[in-house]
Amino acid sequence: MKKEIKEIDAVQTENIADDKAKDNDVVLEIKHVNKKYKVTNKEYFQALYDININFKNGELVSIVGESGSGKSTLMNLIGGLDSEFTGQIIAGGEDLGTLTDKQLDKYRKDKVGFVFQSFNLISHLSILDNVTLALTLSNVSEKEKVERATKMLKMVGLESQLKKKPTQLSGGQKQRVAIARALINNPEIIIADEPTGALDTTTSMQILKILKEIADSGKLVIMVTHSEKVASVSSRVIEISDGRIISDHKNKNYKKEKPQENAIKESEPKKEDKKLKQNLSLWSAIRLSIHNMWASKTKNFLMAFGVAIGIGSLILMLCFSSGITDYIGATMKSYSDPTIVTISKRSEKLMSFNTFTDEEIDNLTNDINTYLTSQNIEYQITDENVSYGFNVITMFGQLTANLIYDVNGDGEDETMPIYYLYTTPPYYTEQNLIEGEMSTADGGIMLTPAVYEFFGEESPIGKKVEISIFYNDASLGNPNSNDTEISAKTTIPIDEEITAIVDTSVMSGFPVVYIDYNLLASYYERIMGSPLTPNSIYVKTDSEEITNAINQYLSTRDDVTGSIEESLANMFTEMANIIGTSLTVISLISLLVSAIMILVVMYMSVSERTKEIGVLKSIGARKKDIRRIFSSESFLVGLLSGICGLVFAGILILIVYIVLTTLVGFAPLSFKWYYPFIALGISIVISVLSGLYPASKAAKLDPVESLRRE
Ligand code: ADP
Ligand code: MG
Repeated sequence: MKKEIKEIDAVQTENIADDKAKDNDVVLEIKHVNKKYKVTNKEYFQALYDININFKNGELVSIVGESGSGKSTLMNLIGGLDSEFTGQIIAGGEDLGTLTDKQLDKYRKDKVGFVFQSFNLISHLSILDNVTLALTLSNVSEKEKVERATKMLKMVGLESQLKKKPTQLSGGQKQRVAIARALINNPEIIIADEPTGALDTTTSMQILKILKEIADSGKLVIMVTHSEKVASVSSRVIEISDGRIISDHKNKNYKKEKPQENAIKESEPKKEDKKLKQNLSLWSAIRLSIHNMWASKTKNFLMAFGVAIGIGSLILMLCFSSGITDYIGATMKSYSDPTIVTISKRSEKLMSFNTFTDEEIDNLTNDINTYLTSQNIEYQITDENVSYGFNVITMFGQLTANLIYDVNGDGEDETMPIYYLYTTPPYYTEQNLIEGEMSTADGGIMLTPAVYEFFGEESPIGKKVEISIFYNDASLGNPNSNDTEISAKTTIPIDEEITAIVDTSVMSGFPVVYIDYNLLASYYERIMGSPLTPNSIYVKTDSEEITNAINQYLSTRDDVTGSIEESLANMFTEMANIIGTSLTVISLISLLVSAIMILVVMYMSVSERTKEIGVLKSIGARKKDIRRIFSSESFLVGLLSGICGLVFAGILILIVYIVLTTLVGFAPLSFKWYYPFIALGISIVISVLSGLYPASKAAKLDPVESLRRE
């Protein structure tokens, strides 16, 4: 190293270290600059000692010195990347030590251009976009940006590579791009920290030639170099050792050349100065983010998919909740005789056999009558206004029922399982029928539309079918008797004609049999030898007020409940609540997981892109700009996730719809137009909130440190 420096000395003729230039073309003055790095809380390392230098326009200065001597430290101070020093640096008329962070950002953007040893191009941006980046930060119009960048790239001989990505270029080409980027804002000072350090000799000389052209066009170019050859071509060589300047020589043989055709001067854009004051526009930030997201599309897509699961289940939950509500509303409507009270036993088991004995019925009617009297209501329950029902779910095993009919007329019966066995409630009227006539106590049964499929083309009306009811467990045959003689699998065959198809919004999808209570009772008694006991009691009142009064009373009792529709509604509400709550919990958990995921991914992205952030800062990006780039990225992630979530929700809803309609015949899902907006909103809010911390972390990164990182 020492030898090398000596050789440089040989070509220098004049020591100008003390030559305090007073000319007007002094663009950079360094006065008594000391720089200390904090190593620990108490220890400091002094990297620069009392540096005093003046630089003029048109100089091509080489800074030489051993590794660790403080060259980069000095460059970072001049470039405004590091503002912690004592002394004075006056560059382009600005006293760097007195500038605010914002003013320093602006200084970096407008007054200096950086060229680094490792090029520091942003890999996911094209060559053209890398060069225009500094203009993007200044919000220059697209057309002008491209024009200027193309000119710059032409000057460094890369006009044919505009669309390429940095990885497609050689080292020398990359460095030319970096030079074009440094020049784009027409800075007065170019700082190049070992610009040829990663290049072979031939390429180094080409780069040097470009730097010389820049200097010769009237700018100040300061470069750090280890190469004696490079130093020998410059107009001035300054040697630093252990933080001190030990020599400063002018090169007498340095020949200034006339700027060439494509020289930098021509592309100087003085008229844009006003525009340069502006900042990175939101749109540009979004464009940068899109580029970056595209560069890591797999990661972003997977993340969006994760969030989409949460959003999808959220929408499904919304559809399901409102679907259930609508469904219950429709169900309640189908049972709409406000003057009928339906009393059944409260039971843990839904619609189980809990039948009423005669005694229980007497006691209950007496209790209700007493209550009505105490309320001064002139109405009493009598045999005239009471009727009975026997309604059971026949698919759960205590009792099963089958519809038996020789559908294709081949002498062999076909069987269809019946889900519910109902006795026709008193409030069923002709209005509930799709076709046919009401069945009566004298005969006939009615079925729900679910049986259409069983009968095929022909209308089932008028067909004589057999309904076989099996008691699977003898003890359930008659819960009110201890008659153990009734054998298991007792069959009650009901032979009746189908008189009507009933439409009930609740049960339409299920195969359900409706039969008159008295008709069922006579079949029952004939086979079982004991009278059928009802599990529903219908009370016909004179008015809705009386109905309400009776229901009011019944709600105070814990053995019976006021209406079958109430218990039905309760059943659905309960079901909806359970499913709705679990869906809510699932979607909340997955949204929380999504938020953490976004946080982690964004956080990783910040450390992955540390260098890029350093580059952005070196070309004058403000904290605000960096935050804006990252925030718009999290916004886009939210938007993307929300859209994926909507697609996912669509698929989910379709699956749930198909499964439910196949299994139970109906799907309580209802979709409101604003659900997608809610989902998108939540997705974006979650994403933007999770991105806040990583974004501010990115904004706070120290540019010097982030550029130092390899
Ligand atoms: P070079 O001449 O090789 O560019 P630098 O300017 O990078 O040298 O470093 C000068 C000295 O300052 C070195 O001894 C280095 O270890 C030290 N140094 C640089 N940055 C820091 C830092 N952030 N904290 C502590 N010491 C530092
Ligand atoms: Mg260095």
